[in-house]
Amino acid sequence: MRLASGSISHTGLVRGNNEDAILVDGDHALFAVADGVGGHRGGEVASRTAIEALRAGVAAGRSVQDAITSANEAVIERARGDVDLTGMGTTMTALVVAGRQVLIGHVGDSRAYLLHDGTLRRVTDDHSLVEELVREGRLTPEQAESHPQRNIVTRALGLDEPVQVDVYPLDVVQGDRIILCSDGLTTMVRERDIERIARNEADPQRAAEQLVDAANSAGGEDNTSVVVIDVLEVDVADATETIPVVPPPSPARIMAPAPDVPPPSAARDSWPKRVRNALLLFVPLVLVLAIAVGGVGWYARRSYYVGFAGNRVVIYKGVPGGVLGWNPTVDETTKIAAADLTPIDHDRVAGGAARGSLGDAHRFVARLQAGIDATTTTTTTTTTRPRATTTTRPRPRQRTATTRPTAAPR
Ligand code: MN
Repeated sequence: MRLASGSISHTGLVRGNNEDAILVDGDHALFAVADGVGGHRGGEVASRTAIEALRAGVAAGRSVQDAITSANEAVIERARGDVDLTGMGTTMTALVVAGRQVLIGHVGDSRAYLLHDGTLRRVTDDHSLVEELVREGRLTPEQAESHPQRNIVTRALGLDEPVQVDVYPLDVVQGDRIILCSDGLTTMVRERDIERIARNEADPQRAAEQLVDAANSAGGEDNTSVVVIDVLEVDVADATETIPVVPPPSPARIMAPAPDVPPPSAARDSWPKRVRNALLLFVPLVLVLAIAVGGVGWYARRSYYVGFAGNRVVIYKGVPGGVLGWNPTVDETTKIAAADLTPIDHDRVAGGAARGSLGDAHRFVARLQAGIDATTTTTTTTTTRPRATTTTRPRPRQRTATTRPTAAPR
């Protein structure tokens, strides 16, 4: 089977860290999404531990069911003896190729979808409280979508041994597309919108990015991870041949290769052969380094995040702390003061929040402002001076932000 894939894992606009992990392993035609939960760094450790154990298990020739079982053991083992990691767990939804079929191995509330002939069908059942209530007929699917406890997972890796792994064999044909995603996508974006995006964007990498953009445009309340796998050909002599992820275009790809021009004849004559040989080695090395530094800088300079400048919330261009001499610069100053923020938001901003596009940063600032406005409104409505309109106004600095939410980037 010949496959192509695209993938992205994004922190979202609210969380401070990304507890999702994804795997794209072209050598083993193995793809997975894991969504970790746990205090401290537990969620991140759980999802990464599970993904690594899954990869090792499949690489060792185990079935997807056995590899997920060993991932469960690995998460339990990792938590043992580390009080910070006690109680951590993770979901796991993985795809492997088995002859003319693909197998989906699944535990938790991440999901696999199949797009066939332009129609999206959900493959996996959620192991969540609300979905169990729906299956029992005690909740309607519409009630489940907005249920306050829709995040409660009833089955996950890292909790118990043995874990019950669901395996779904799928007959696929050329042109089918499989989407693995964490609940950051499905709690923010309706299935008909997932279907529309997946149907309209042919490139798997761009489709994955557009799905994450949709989740972030809807609020980005959770980490969102998406792996899109396209079936290019089912009958190929080689049992599993995979085209690995196509990374987004980078400057290194756009730049022309180093010109193969011989040094000027004068230089050639006057320089000893040893020096010329050294230069021939050195020049390409410098070029590679220059492209690498340029690429990192390009990445650093097109990223934005929200942080503090003094006691003022600002939007920085760059990455927190800077990389390779590319230091962040203040791109926009907001009217929000550090003192206006809740302790949680303060911590978030102090750590560099909403890392991503300028649109991400604008949306995050708008949310901060909305939170402050809401607090102010609550406070003013509880004051009991009906005619004293001047005192019931929110403080001016809290009403005017210089930044406004803009349309989604790209
Ligand atoms: Mn999640």
